[in-house]
Amino acid sequence: MCENLSKITKSQNDKREYKAIRLENKMTIVLISDPETDKSGVAMNVFVGALEDPADREGLAHYLEHMLFLGTEKYPNQSEYMDYLSKNSGLFNAYTDLMETNYFFECSNSAFEGGIDRFSQFFIAPLFTESCAKREMNAVNSEHQLYFKQDIWRQFQLLRHSAKKGNPLNKFGVGSLETLDHPNIREDLIKFFERYYSSNQMKLVVYSNQSISQLETLVMDKFWSVKNKDIDSPKYEEKPFDDTNQGNFWRVTPVKDEDYLKLMWTLDHTLPHYKSNPAKYISHLIGHEGENSLLSFLKEEGLALELSSGYHDYMNLFTLFEIEIKLTQKGLQNYQNVVNTTFAYLKMLREKGAQEWIFQEINTINKLKFDNVDKQKIMQYILTLASKLQYYEIEDILVQPYLFESFDKELIQKYIDSLKTSNLRIFLQSKTQESLCNLTEPIYGTKYSCENFDETTIKSFENPDLSFTKSQKKLDLPPPNDFVPKSMTIFGSKNDETQSKLPVQIQDNVWFKQDNTFLTPKGQISLFIYFKDCDLPHNVQNVLHSKIWELLFNHHVSELTYMAEQAYLSFRMAITPLQLKLDFKGFNDSLPRFTLQILEKLVSFNPLANQELFNNIYEEVAKETDNFFKNPPFQQIAPYVDYLVRTGFHSPQQKAEAIKGITFESFTHFVKQWLKNLRFEWLIVGNFEKQTALDVTNQGLEVLQKLNYKMIQQFEINQIRAYQLIPNQTIVWQRHLPEGDENSTCTKLYQYPQECTIRNHNLLDLVQTFLRIPAFTQLRTVEQLGYVVFTSVNTRSGIGGIVFVVQSNVKPPIEVSNRIKAFVQSMEEKLINMTEEQFKTLVEGVKNTVKEKDTDIFAETARYEEAINTQYIFGKKQKRVEDIENVTLEEFTKFAKALLYQEPRSLEFYLVSQKHKEEQNQLLDDLIHNENYAHYKDIETIQSRLALYPYYYSKV
Ligand SMILES: [Zn+2]
Repeated sequence: MCENLSKITKSQNDKREYKAIRLENKMTIVLISDPETDKSGVAMNVFVGALEDPADREGLAHYLEHMLFLGTEKYPNQSEYMDYLSKNSGLFNAYTDLMETNYFFECSNSAFEGGIDRFSQFFIAPLFTESCAKREMNAVNSEHQLYFKQDIWRQFQLLRHSAKKGNPLNKFGVGSLETLDHPNIREDLIKFFERYYSSNQMKLVVYSNQSISQLETLVMDKFWSVKNKDIDSPKYEEKPFDDTNQGNFWRVTPVKDEDYLKLMWTLDHTLPHYKSNPAKYISHLIGHEGENSLLSFLKEEGLALELSSGYHDYMNLFTLFEIEIKLTQKGLQNYQNVVNTTFAYLKMLREKGAQEWIFQEINTINKLKFDNVDKQKIMQYILTLASKLQYYEIEDILVQPYLFESFDKELIQKYIDSLKTSNLRIFLQSKTQESLCNLTEPIYGTKYSCENFDETTIKSFENPDLSFTKSQKKLDLPPPNDFVPKSMTIFGSKNDETQSKLPVQIQDNVWFKQDNTFLTPKGQISLFIYFKDCDLPHNVQNVLHSKIWELLFNHHVSELTYMAEQAYLSFRMAITPLQLKLDFKGFNDSLPRFTLQILEKLVSFNPLANQELFNNIYEEVAKETDNFFKNPPFQQIAPYVDYLVRTGFHSPQQKAEAIKGITFESFTHFVKQWLKNLRFEWLIVGNFEKQTALDVTNQGLEVLQKLNYKMIQQFEINQIRAYQLIPNQTIVWQRHLPEGDENSTCTKLYQYPQECTIRNHNLLDLVQTFLRIPAFTQLRTVEQLGYVVFTSVNTRSGIGGIVFVVQSNVKPPIEVSNRIKAFVQSMEEKLINMTEEQFKTLVEGVKNTVKEKDTDIFAETARYEEAINTQYIFGKKQKRVEDIENVTLEEFTKFAKALLYQEPRSLEFYLVSQKHKEEQNQLLDDLIHNENYAHYKDIETIQSRLALYPYYYSKV
């Protein structure tokens, strides 16, 4: 039997049914029935996390999370869960946070019962097999190695390290061989599970196409036997930060060359006040980027480039409120002025007091967002809800974080007043501070220093000195937002036969589709500006000039775009090798007006007006180019593959070299020739009438006239083409990584030598799905090569292929490559012996993934944008679903054999860590003598030896 809980408040636009229940074992469950869904899913949130790690077994909670996947009494095979999901269009993952551990998966509706049966056994009878436990510890250690060089993890660990000694926060949560490799670790796992995994601390969310009563029966059947140990939730009483360890100034040395100033206050816990949300009000104003804002002022002074403000609850005990400011060189040298300006803004906030109209404005927009909420991807949706169930009252889990009920002037004022210096810590994060950092965080080795605030800082809090300023700007509350939509009229209707199901051309180069699926007051306007200027995309220096131009333009419009963003209207600009693309999305009512305002700004934009800003942006781009090489190796490798397989792209090294030659003069020269030979194409999708679409494009074109451009013809648009790899040859290229990174990476691409038609795309997806989970199980779980192991389908410029990526901290890349090959070889027999039955399941799985419904109008529009950039097949998705039915087992086998075994055309890129250097070089010596391999020192030489495929009308 189970108990019914309160009704969940939902949006008027949400047609799904919800029901909250509690099982006899006190497990709280939310059932969601969505007859339209293609997939089902489950998320289980257990209220225990890294804070409960025993002091001598740091990382145990996280390690346990890994272990639950690897075998239960009912399903002892370690890859059972993954195999099952992979056959049924499934996805799965899990994470361990400070207070919670969250497990989730999704799969096709028909496979749901089998999935939930395997999943529920995690919480009933996990095995913690000795041999798995040993191996999986390596996966945790690899994960730790992956985070080692990432600033976000290093900073989080510094925060934990800075907590009071003995406080649960003062530990390390990921775990490593050093913290976990103990003889009785299996007993520790079992002890932890027995103690904390109790049904009364579990929150479950179930999502499916079944009815509520069917789901109710299902969850009772699967979860009734999870043990209720009737334990209390972990409670924390002592704050890790107080007067004894705050009121100080920290210098921190990051891995990446980025300069930040961060202010962090410890405040009374805000979560109990979530219905009036005082922290949201404050961060809304401090993080504002419009007129009168803190960022606007700092930018005008040339001190900062970006600013964000937010808050995070910890330990059900306190809230950290943060302001993070990205500094310019000048800002770094004069960081005290940045601090003073921030204090001046806070002083203004204190003096003006909490304003009801601002609160109401935030509320109005949030209410519109909530009333017109879109669906999300299932997994993301349920995992978030399962987590919210731990913190919010059950009726509010959908409403939060949208709506707050009451304006509580005193409470907001109290929180504004509690931003003081005694509970503040200021962090200056910059590589330039390294010589002043005399302390070291023990896990990641981050260098830092900490000193108490001096008298000047404390005094300037009350009376900030702004005498340095030459700015005309003032620090004040923002003006009212006139982008708030006035009309929410819906123009389309479901199943309207008079409307086209796909975009149609309503005027030269104007594609339009009215929404008749989602029926929300939203839409998107996209403008593609093709150019033939400045020898782009071939001239790498001009590629960088155009990047600087783009960033300068974003600064030019930032006050306007920020105001629009507050009213749910967004603007994004992207410069690709072929085009300058402008995307406007959001509530349709104000969208045409916003689009025209941005175009007006575009035609009147003078990028040469502010040389100081140019210098700051140049610094940014230079640092970014350089910081690329500090990304984890598996992320560094991707652009090289992209770059090698087609024309019109440049390697990160070429960019790093070219940036050095850029000056204000070279930029001036670029600007004079840029945007002179153009062609426009529009895509308008959403809650618009045809006339509105015609009006906005015609008015837009009129505005664009002022650019004084010459119109180019369709055939003059740049063509990007793919390089042909050679049959039975593997092209090899490698680069050594600098000292300090333990990880190497190997990427292997198998290219299919024919145009990536609809049929070939389907076949590639089938092969990839056939290989995906077996590859993960073999290379990661069994062979323990590393934490990052994945396969993907790569389709570029009309040519497709399959990619393997393995990042390894234990083997050199050539060894990894041999393992990949051995794995691929081992799959040949399975391929040849595949039964019709197995093939049918495979096809069904891919078909379900392809046909998955769009979650909102923007996801739908993204498909049309892709079509415009490829072959204008707007209905590609439907065509693929129809086409895949016609693939036979014989055809699939023939395709896979050609791709992988008979005449493989492949490419291997290695990034080699110092740790693997010697071993790798020996292996490379052997490889060079093998006639099936061609090793090149640089990519330009490789490209010069390869022929190009024909141009397949795929623009990118
Ligand atoms: Zn993990």
